[in-house]
Amino acid sequence: MPKKYNLGNKRDMDKFFKELEKDVKKQAEKNIRNSTLEIPCPNCGEKVKVSFRQGKGKCPKCGVSITQDQKWV
Ligand SMILES: [Zn+2]
Repeated sequence: MPKKYNLGNKRDMDKFFKELEKDVKKQAEKNIRNSTLEIPCPNCGEKVKVSFRQGKGKCPKCGVSITQDQKWV
């Protein structure tokens, strides 16, 4: 991290944690968008393992495209 924070300063401390939170969220999002998840298919309803690439995957049972924007959580 190129920025310097004075952690004794409350405002800097808040800033530091906000940045940290953003980084962690970004990383988690990236990980989940390229992972294999066991989810119920929105089309056939079967519980399937879907390998996601950039948030996109395919149901191995019915072949429907699944994006992580869909509500299956
Ligand atoms: Zn399916």
